[in-house]
Amino acid sequence: MNDLITTVTDGFTSRFGAAPAGLWSAPGRVNLIGEHTDYNDGFVFPFAINRRTVVAFGLRSDRLLRVASSFAEESVELSLDDLAPENLAGWSAYPLGVAWALGQFGADLALVPGFDVFIDSDVPIGAGLSSSAAIESAVAVALNDLWQLGLDRRVLARVGQLAENRAVGAPTGIMDQSASLLGEADSAVFLDCRTLEAEVIPLGFDAAGLELLIIDTRVSHAHSTGGYASRRASCERGARMLGVTSLRDLTVDDLDRALDVLDDETFRRVRHVVTENRRVQDTVRTLREHGPTAIGALLDASHLSMRDDFEISVPELDLAVDTARGAGAIGARMTGGGFGGAAIALTPSALIAAVTAAVTAAFAVRGFTAPDLFVVRAADGAGRQQ
Ligand code: ADP
Ligand code: MG
Repeated sequence: MNDLITTVTDGFTSRFGAAPAGLWSAPGRVNLIGEHTDYNDGFVFPFAINRRTVVAFGLRSDRLLRVASSFAEESVELSLDDLAPENLAGWSAYPLGVAWALGQFGADLALVPGFDVFIDSDVPIGAGLSSSAAIESAVAVALNDLWQLGLDRRVLARVGQLAENRAVGAPTGIMDQSASLLGEADSAVFLDCRTLEAEVIPLGFDAAGLELLIIDTRVSHAHSTGGYASRRASCERGARMLGVTSLRDLTVDDLDRALDVLDDETFRRVRHVVTENRRVQDTVRTLREHGPTAIGALLDASHLSMRDDFEISVPELDLAVDTARGAGAIGARMTGGGFGGAAIALTPSALIAAVTAAVTAAFAVRGFTAPDLFVVRAADGAGRQQ
């Protein structure tokens, strides 16, 4: 964190020739459980992680916006008068898209001053830890303060989502921004994607001596976009055939009826979503009643459901999960959209080294690309840094 503070402060000063007015930051996130439930109006349970994006801001006396990042050679400049989704492209669409989206949520962009911003991050990009929500949330909290907008964090989450949907053009839900803005240390955010109600639930990983190991398989499959779209279509078809608005409206008691009505493949897609929603709720209840060592079986069941019913796993993810469990993780599952990406393994601190070694060795034996393994902790959400 201190390194990031130094790079953004120095980066800002050397690009813009003055010291920044302030620093803000926001974390990436990992989803503990609740996969492919968001677009079915269901439940997810992500937490903010100890990898952050830091932004250094200065206000200007004119209407110019200048954005720079350690991630890019070139700075991008645009007038507030030209701020519109069709004028935004590339990485700067994330920060500038947030500025535009604030205008859609009540900021009077005709009156606010321009700004300079320099951005740095240690959230890995494209590894499924949502570097995109980290940059959006950091910029959103900064501008909310600097432009004195007084928007609450739930609104800022929708600002980030709107920026990503309209300025970047990625049809994402609100999970990532909610985790990044509402997260708290050693806690996760229980989010109802229908009502957008969010509740912060203590995880108790620290007291139980547990850590979450990320196993990035570094696999990305060309058909992940098509696979995601076809799973969404199956869910919509299942809901339509069962006469409900979304799969959120079904419970496990409805699965017998679903078996009679649906073809085998659609039934299995539906069963994943229905049981996954139940597992998210069970995870929250189990944490409260029995603590974190009792949630392992729910993580395992989530993986099997994605592997067998939703069919979005790949051999690398299955190997990561099976090997981590065999080496002492108390529960493990693939996370994210599927067809590659990362698995997570809830692991006693004392066994992190053994699990890491076992997974690395198993990948080498199978001839798979070496995976990247690292621990994340549940951390505080976005805020002012200094
Ligand atoms: P992720 O899974 O990490 O969220 P995305 O494709 O959604 O992957 O978002 C990654 C994109 O966000 C990058 O390609 C870049 O355009 C933008 N981005 C993330 N972090 C930074 C940063 N520090 N500086 C500039 N752009 C960033
Ligand atoms: Mg993203």
